[in-house]
Amino acid sequence: MLKTIKSLLMEFIPYELYSDLNTVVDMHVDNSVKEIGIKYLLTKYNIPYTSLGSGTNRLGILIGGYAFKFAYDKAGCIDNRREFKYSRLLYPYAIKVYECFPNGLISVSEYIEVFTEEDFWTYREPMKNILTELSSKYLIGDVGIIKKNLTNWGVRHSEYGDQICILDFAYIYDTSFGTFVCSCDNITMLEYDKTFSKFICPRCSKVHTFEDLRSRITRKLESDEIGDIRDLSYNVTSAMQDVEYVSQYSDIDDDDDDIIENIEKIKEYEEYEKEMEEQKDLFDYHPMYENNDAE
Ligand SMILES: [Zn+2]
Repeated sequence: MLKTIKSLLMEFIPYELYSDLNTVVDMHVDNSVKEIGIKYLLTKYNIPYTSLGSGTNRLGILIGGYAFKFAYDKAGCIDNRREFKYSRLLYPYAIKVYECFPNGLISVSEYIEVFTEEDFWTYREPMKNILTELSSKYLIGDVGIIKKNLTNWGVRHSEYGDQICILDFAYIYDTSFGTFVCSCDNITMLEYDKTFSKFICPRCSKVHTFEDLRSRITRKLESDEIGDIRDLSYNVTSAMQDVEYVSQYSDIDDDDDDIIENIEKIKEYEEYEKEMEEQKDLFDYHPMYENNDAE
């Protein structure tokens, strides 16, 4: 069965621009300089864009209604590849990443409005719910319920209602990665604190930051764990292309089964939110957040 695929990367990023952007990734200059360079190139190639903001290793740019993440460096390339791989496992709790160059230079995802400070306070309970569910399978950094992470969360406005989701999940690792054990015995798995922003050893009570744990992983190890992302999806070379349908790639497509599954998830989520709303007075997590905001 043939299926027509539309590629935004192929539509908006000509080969010459791809090549110039790879040169930017290899340059040894500050990201602020690279940001100017990337924007200069987009203007040079007549691509209408709006800046979404600069992160640690990547630049967010809105093109044609979609969020393009441009890697500043090799670490940013790995971040894009990681998000491409994990998007299909985390959706609808994370943004949907539609496309990514095999080397991770640029990824394309749905555009979701970033949290306001008010959203952060409003959605603490649903955030906690999502992180509780995800933390049983993954170790996640930079999305815990502390104010400095609010730009890593957003609100998806859909016909099924508003739903929060994670915008940046480059720091997510499958627990089978095995690096997240305490140094006291090299066996005990670390546990999250209440805000999902720190890790505590249940054996010796030592507190670890995500950065401590992440620094144990080399870029080579990370890259090997992600593997070749071309094995995860259709590979196209033009803006519109017919490909042979592959069922295991369909979890990122809008195919019927997935839509039904996602609606179910959203329904569950809405029921949970309603329940939370009803029980609101019973919960008072506020002091915990106040403490963490002091950081
Ligand atoms: Zn320990």
